[in-house]
Amino acid sequence: MISDHIVVLGAGVSGLTTALLLSRDPSKNITVVAKHMPGDYDIEYCSPWAGASFFPVGKPNTAHGKWERATWPVLKQLAEKHPEAGICFQPTLVFSRSEDVNSATGQWFAELVQKDPWYKDLVDNFEEIPAENLDSRIDNGSRFTIPALAPRQCSKNGVIFKRATFKHVTEAGYAHHSGKKADVVVNCTGLSSKSLGGVQDDTLFPIRGQVVLVRNDPHAMYSVSGCDDGEDEVAYMMARAAGGGTVLGGSYQKNNWDPLPEPNLAIRIMTRAINLCPELVNKGQGIEGLDVIRHGVGLRPARADGPRVEKEQVDDLAVVHNYGHGGFGYQASYGCAATAVRLIHEVLQEKGRPKM
Ligand SMILES: Cc1cc2nc3c(=O)[nH]c(=O)nc-3n(C[C@H](O)[C@H](O)[C@H](O)COP(=O)(O)OP(=O)(O)OC[C@H]3O[C@@H](n4cnc5c(N)ncnc54)[C@H](O)[C@@H]3O)c2cc1C
Repeated sequence: MISDHIVVLGAGVSGLTTALLLSRDPSKNITVVAKHMPGDYDIEYCSPWAGASFFPVGKPNTAHGKWERATWPVLKQLAEKHPEAGICFQPTLVFSRSEDVNSATGQWFAELVQKDPWYKDLVDNFEEIPAENLDSRIDNGSRFTIPALAPRQCSKNGVIFKRATFKHVTEAGYAHHSGKKADVVVNCTGLSSKSLGGVQDDTLFPIRGQVVLVRNDPHAMYSVSGCDDGEDEVAYMMARAAGGGTVLGGSYQKNNWDPLPEPNLAIRIMTRAINLCPELVNKGQGIEGLDVIRHGVGLRPARADGPRVEKEQVDDLAVVHNYGHGGFGYQASYGCAATAVRLIHEVLQEKGRPKM
């Protein structure tokens, strides 16, 4: 059997999901190579900071919306049939305030908080919350069930993992564990594609998300379109799967590269979370009732025209890109990775490999 040598550059959710889908084909001999690996926390590594939930934000007939739609059935199947994948269902509440419609966070959540959203037939148990049960400042609210993802992927199927840092994407072509030159490199370097030689995508920009990870359990996920603390701040709460704690968010600060948690913002995040879900702490307690695991900042790898999932010849190396997923890298992960895998097959066929 002909074996295809593939290097996946990047071990965030984009690289790991692409490697996982590729590895189901035994003719693919795969090395994942990255500067950061699961378990690391770094400002150059976005995936560990995510709430890692499925909150659809893409417009229905765009590639973004289709990638989210394509990801849902895979997550549902994993949650139902493969407990070892660490994905479980959680009840979720989403609230909209019409005053947020023009804010950064309101625009980010525009599809999520629609009264009659496109995804209502996709997710489980969707229902509108009756107006009489809503706070006076909330214009509409809904309740549904979505998966919480464990932000890690398994390394089954013979994928080999290596650490390395590259200045140019073509260097990754020589990083295959077999010592052979890669037939194709899959570029999943997220925001670093802005500076990576051979890519240098100037349309990438960071959207800073500050979070507080706590041990307290809200027993549901919550999201509101905005808050009164500033137009790029927001209140959400996501309980991670597999004992991963609860992520309290957050912020949506475009073009802000600050890697350090800002203490005043952290206090606002924790205060908003308790206002949203008083049961998070014992009765009468404020933020001192939160059991903090860590404060953190992640930079969402946003791109002016949305994710880049396409093939390109860089010097003598075939590259398939899969980067620039902003704040939806998990919920679009399988959809984007499936597109990347199709492009990889096209590249291999162009090299004379048999059609899959
Ligand atoms: C606070 C916050 C909350 C979020 N919540 C959600 C959510 O609920 N749902 C959702 O879908 N998304 C969410 N996101 C967005 C999601 O986290 C990102 O879209 C996703 O993590 C991007 O993953 P990635 O694999 O593309 O990039 P990254 O995770 O950044 O991985 C990049 C990889 O490339 C490697 N790399 C980069 N440059 C080089 C180099 N030169 N040499 C070698 N290796 C290199 C890195 O080491 C790393 O392994 C959230 C983000 C934040 C910050």
